[in-house]
Amino acid sequence: MRNFTCVCGQGLFFENSQCTACGRRLGFDPQRGELLALEPVQAEPSGVLWHSVETGLTYRPCRNDLDFHVCNWLVGDSDQYCLSCRLNRIVPDLESSVRAPLRRERWARLEQAKRRLLFTLLAMGLPVVSKSESQSDGLAFAFLEDQRSNPAVMEQHVLTGHWQGLITVNLAEADHVEREKMRQGLGESYRTLLGHLRHESGHYYFEQRVVQQGELEGFRALFGDERQDYDCALRSYYAQPMPAQKRPEMISAYAQSHPLEDWAECWAHYLHMMDTLETASDYGLVPGGILDLRCGPDIEWCFWQWSRVSVAMNALNRSMGLDDAYPFVHSELTLRKLRYVHQRIYPNSMPRQMAASV
Ligand SMILES: [Zn+2]
Ligand SMILES: [Zn+2]
Ligand SMILES: [Zn+2]
Repeated sequence: MRNFTCVCGQGLFFENSQCTACGRRLGFDPQRGELLALEPVQAEPSGVLWHSVETGLTYRPCRNDLDFHVCNWLVGDSDQYCLSCRLNRIVPDLESSVRAPLRRERWARLEQAKRRLLFTLLAMGLPVVSKSESQSDGLAFAFLEDQRSNPAVMEQHVLTGHWQGLITVNLAEADHVEREKMRQGLGESYRTLLGHLRHESGHYYFEQRVVQQGELEGFRALFGDERQDYDCALRSYYAQPMPAQKRPEMISAYAQSHPLEDWAECWAHYLHMMDTLETASDYGLVPGGILDLRCGPDIEWCFWQWSRVSVAMNALNRSMGLDDAYPFVHSELTLRKLRYVHQRIYPNSMPRQMAASV
């Protein structure tokens, strides 16, 4: 993630909606990838038409900002919702109970994680298409509660997962205490909203970037045969009281459950690495200026920088009495898989050996 700068010179973060120095309203334009300082368009009766101080372009706030204050992205066309909120199929009900403020807070955390995911996907040039634009290939999100957290809903047990472009997340994952209980219950070393969304986005892009690119043979050689019974594999994984990582060369314990889960885990780790390296480069913590995700960075350079940055990040966390930020160790096998993910995202980038020989 890059940081941004207000027209007044104040540094801004991606999540900001108002400049703390000059008080201007801020909004993110996903097409331009910029957080913009805004001023109201004079003589506009609704009071919700804004123009960018820098570019003069006009925008409206997203409907989810006006109604619920859970979004800071802008709308530049006739739609009511921004690019991120257009992907929502089901959002929490904020009308019907005394728990609505709590639900809004959890939903806001999910939206924030979703926008961070989308920022990276868009920067990498991956298509972000809603199901209203393409029912078959589009992406959608459902943020659902189940009876464990809200006895009034129909669903008994909502599992976070992906099915044909629909990413479902249990709203309880956005509760820090609940998520930590789940993490400990499953013996995981890392569990975050952003991690979930990155993982599930890997399932979504598998079809486009592996199957449709005719890359299944290479996939099977590295990850295994994805045609093995998925339900059976997952049932047997979760039947263990505390799933253990029996194969240390895998990226995580969960990656052992099925080749498609291994792919989604590696995809998520690739996004962890690239987003964090972009952040580190923006703060001058890696050499060579700001990492540009638009044009396939050198993956071997990224691995080298990531080995430095992730170790330093963990050491800094320990200095603050916190758990490791990146509690994972890469093997030669996981690096090969991350190279494969890199080639699927940047199909025109050549493996290093090939690039050297031409
Ligand atoms: Zn400002
Ligand atoms: Zn929005
Ligand atoms: Zn998965």
